[in-house]
Amino acid sequence: MRFLLANDDGILAPGLRALAEALATRGQVKVIAPEREQSAAGHSVTLHKPLRLVPAQLNGLDVEAYACSGTPADCVALGTIDPADLPDMVLSGINDGANLAEEVLYSGTASAAMEGAMYDLPSFALSVVRNEQPTRFDVAARLAQWIVDGFPRQAACRACFFNVNVPNLPLEEITGIEITRLGRRRYVNRMSQREDPRGRPYFWFAGEPAEQDASPGTDLAAVRAGKISITPLHFDLTSHADIDPLTEALRAVCLSPLLKEGG
Ligand code: MN
Repeated sequence: MRFLLANDDGILAPGLRALAEALATRGQVKVIAPEREQSAAGHSVTLHKPLRLVPAQLNGLDVEAYACSGTPADCVALGTIDPADLPDMVLSGINDGANLAEEVLYSGTASAAMEGAMYDLPSFALSVVRNEQPTRFDVAARLAQWIVDGFPRQAACRACFFNVNVPNLPLEEITGIEITRLGRRRYVNRMSQREDPRGRPYFWFAGEPAEQDASPGTDLAAVRAGKISITPLHFDLTSHADIDPLTEALRAVCLSPLLKEGG
């Protein structure tokens, strides 16, 4: 099997190396990762300047690796240039920090996996939920091997990817694996305002999470209970449940005068 690896913590991140090392035991690994950290880059792509790939070393690991001047999504796009030479699987991470609830919308880790899903490739984003202990990547790396060995990918939809969050615990303290939905976690005090040395205000994205839905079945509840959370996500943001009621509602207000005006 051939694996395309990307991340948003950058080519030098220990989580990426741990993932590459784990998957090198399962097949051919190709790493394309941002040359520096791009956490919270979301799904941005580079349109207005050239992209460069520079051969890189993953701290002595014998795998093909490149540092990319672009974003996490650029990295996966570059790794899927040739339709005749696609990887069998895209894995993003292992991110040093959670990607839970709304965080997936900002996450470069999740977006790299989403880019893989857009090419119908089985794609996984892997993150370790940081706590006060040093982040350990061994459990998530072992999980990546398990995904390659036996995850029932055929049971999943096309055009979807898997957002995986692993508690920062030794394997024997992990309490299970749960398929989850996204919780909700709005941040409060998101913008910290300060003053620069010249007396002008500046702002820094900060804030604390104020949880709104960490009920059973959510990713937030699973990792809090010490479980590995696997959330299937798709990039179709359509609110399908609203299409019929909204169509009905529009019929009721009668659009014909508006359409006549337009015509
Ligand atoms: Mn990151």
